[in-house]
Amino acid sequence: MTAAGNGAPVVAAGDGAPVVAAGDPIAEGIRARLRDVPDFPLAGVQFKDIMPLLADADFFGRCIDALAQLPAAADAELIAGVEARGFIVAAALARAARAGIVAVRKAGKLPPPTLSISYALEYGTAEIEVAAGVLAGKRVFLVDDVLATGGTLAAAIELITSAGATVTGVGVLVELTALSGRARLDGHQVCSLLSL
Ligand code: AMP
Repeated sequence: MTAAGNGAPVVAAGDGAPVVAAGDPIAEGIRARLRDVPDFPLAGVQFKDIMPLLADADFFGRCIDALAQLPAAADAELIAGVEARGFIVAAALARAARAGIVAVRKAGKLPPPTLSISYALEYGTAEIEVAAGVLAGKRVFLVDDVLATGGTLAAAIELITSAGATVTGVGVLVELTALSGRARLDGHQVCSLLSL
């Protein structure tokens, strides 16, 4: 057990992965600051907009502090963020954890040389990339804003690992449990500050 930024406990779930306990002030604070946007960007998707949370300086700082106190984050040399909202979390967390940043970008955005991986979406495929040469031998904590199906974070783990780095853990602000994304990150410690 460890402590979240507000002193609240981060408890071990049944699979040994840390989750912030329901009713925790951080979890409830995120819930209160999320904006639900129906049918965005596609019909049938309930988009979880974190912009009100990011705009609250004190509360965003508390979220970052909670992540920074996780041993898996404190132990990391690099924080990897997934495009695009993951970059925001990664940049703030990297400062708190005194780590560097790695951007996991959509294909075609980074100058060569890059390492890339393709992965399946519900319809079609997607591709993500990292800069070659920055990851080998490093301990990396991976972050994003929302864990949904887990496909993107699973691909990012594969990419980071294939680059010769070790993923110490994964952190997200919000986990959509009905989509079972955590199961696709099997074997990795996943911390979500709010489970919905
Ligand atoms: P995933 O299905 O876990 O691969 O999610 C892919 C990406 O889409 C993540 O980087 C999330 O930021 C974003 N995402 C997926 N579903 C949602 C949602 N309901 N609300 C906000 N962002 C989402």
